[in-house]
Amino acid sequence: MKKVVKFGGSSLASAEQFKKVGDIIRSDASRRYVVPSAPGKRHSKDTKVTDMLYACYALAEADKDFSAALQKIRARYDEIIKGLGLKLNLDSEFKTIEKNFKDKAGSDYAASRGEYLNGIIMAEYLGFPFIDAAEVIRFDAKGNFDADTTDSLLKKRLEKNEYAVVPGFYGAYKNGTVKTFSRGGSDITGSIVAKAARVDVYENWTDVSGFMVADPRIIEKPANIEMITYRELRELSYMGAGVLHADSIFPVRKEGIPINIRNTNAPEDPGTWIVESTCQKSKYTITGIAGKKGFCAINIEKDMMNSEIGFGRKVLQAFEDNGISFEHTPSGIDTMTVFVHQDEFMHKEQSVVSQLHRLTSPDSIEIESDLALIAVVGRGMKSTRGTAGRIFSALAHANVNVRMIDQGSSELNIIIGVANEDFEAAIRAIYDIFVLVRI
Ligand code: ASP
Repeated sequence: MKKVVKFGGSSLASAEQFKKVGDIIRSDASRRYVVPSAPGKRHSKDTKVTDMLYACYALAEADKDFSAALQKIRARYDEIIKGLGLKLNLDSEFKTIEKNFKDKAGSDYAASRGEYLNGIIMAEYLGFPFIDAAEVIRFDAKGNFDADTTDSLLKKRLEKNEYAVVPGFYGAYKNGTVKTFSRGGSDITGSIVAKAARVDVYENWTDVSGFMVADPRIIEKPANIEMITYRELRELSYMGAGVLHADSIFPVRKEGIPINIRNTNAPEDPGTWIVESTCQKSKYTITGIAGKKGFCAINIEKDMMNSEIGFGRKVLQAFEDNGISFEHTPSGIDTMTVFVHQDEFMHKEQSVVSQLHRLTSPDSIEIESDLALIAVVGRGMKSTRGTAGRIFSALAHANVNVRMIDQGSSELNIIIGVANEDFEAAIRAIYDIFVLVRI
């Protein structure tokens, strides 16, 4: 059995957290490859080291004095080193960083030092070899992640190392220039390492015990999701369920490697398993509920639209020409509605409307704003009768007016449009009917 273990910033924010992580790794010899993030927040008002690095580099780039800012960053690491009782001295590392900041090595380089230094400390603490991600994670000339080159570079290095620490979040171009993934990207590194080492499990350790059925800011102490498929997760992440970087599932998904989300502060909790496919039914018919506010619906009406070939294409063309992506397009006999993000659409609405007139000669165009979309996701819905009925009667009881319904042909999700102000009440009503009442 081989595992990759990735630890998020809050799991590595202090020496105390590092010790918990050390205990977790040492308690299971199959936890062989460790991917650390940079130190995160120690408390809610704290600053992540990554953000400190960006701010410090901004000073350097503006030719301002950054020594105090860099000293503060160093203090975070020195505190961890001291708390762990290590004899590690970061003098030469910080000299190099200072020089490179002065030479304007770039904000990606700057941000990557958070993970790089934490990786050095982690390797020293565990007695594992350190592999610099810049040597094994490759980006192509266009700045895209180069999966094939990375896989072969990384595979070769890991074959020579039974145990290793590979810092998260960054890699490099062929010429060695450092490049980072987007924020939260250590999750992606974990997945890349898991794939290259062909491990059995990718454990992703964070500060919550996995995914919850609904957002805890809306539902008090929501139930945990024990098992979720990659496809369900895509639907929920897209609709705003956080925890894991959305791109991190791709490398492992191709290899059929499951991800287990775990809690560093409650290691006994089983967490959430993310799998390709499963015969296990989810506990509550639905797997999860997620949603977002801030959508607009553009209703286009035209008699006989249904028989006009190419009508839908022309409608979408008007959005494409204005660089706006659409979310959903429910349609009737003589109407078609396009859901878009309000903040993207707002500035371009008149240009879209005139383009729609030009391309489709509609009878009328109406715009509704301040709408929310809610996705009710679950592999179990396909085989359960009455799911939609239960959702809509729950919403009716909660006095929520449903503005749009869209069920994907995969029967994996039902998307519901409601007014922004009904968003929380709608989620509560759906949660109650499936999780609390379980009728
Ligand atoms: N440290 C980086 C960030 O704050 C990457 C990560 O933690 O995954 O975004």
